[in-house]
Amino acid sequence: MNLKELYQEIILEHGKNPRNLGKTHEFNKDAKGNNPLCGDNVHVYLKLNGQKIVEDISFEGSGCAISMASASIMTDLIKGKNEHEAKEIIEDFLGMIKENPELKSEYITKDEKTKLMCLSGVKQYPMRVKCATLSWHTLISAIDNSEEITNTES
Ligand code: ZN
Repeated sequence: MNLKELYQEIILEHGKNPRNLGKTHEFNKDAKGNNPLCGDNVHVYLKLNGQKIVEDISFEGSGCAISMASASIMTDLIKGKNEHEAKEIIEDFLGMIKENPELKSEYITKDEKTKLMCLSGVKQYPMRVKCATLSWHTLISAIDNSEEITNTES
């Protein structure tokens, strides 16, 4: 199996069996996102504790395999990180999807980098980039307590 096939395999697997799907019992931050071009919708919930650590994070949503896999991988990776680390990881991921050849953050392990790099295949497809980044932009809104619905077209 080559790298491209491995990446596709991981995306399909996360798309079929999304991690952290559903509404967490106790959340204190949440935000909604919408990608009208593809029809992806996501609602991200998180519980940030007193030490600003993401104690719990989950999402509800529907859409294509890329958007669901991205939300699944993201929630898995952000759980347990503090707000500062989470923001750096988000920025790193968005930078990689847009232009950077690789991820730079020290807060993500080699294994986690492999999972994130699975989504790097969307780079050449601007439409797909929106699918892959929707949940990440929505997470920023949740952390920042933005009331606005994240829309990839605005
Ligand atoms: Zn999509």
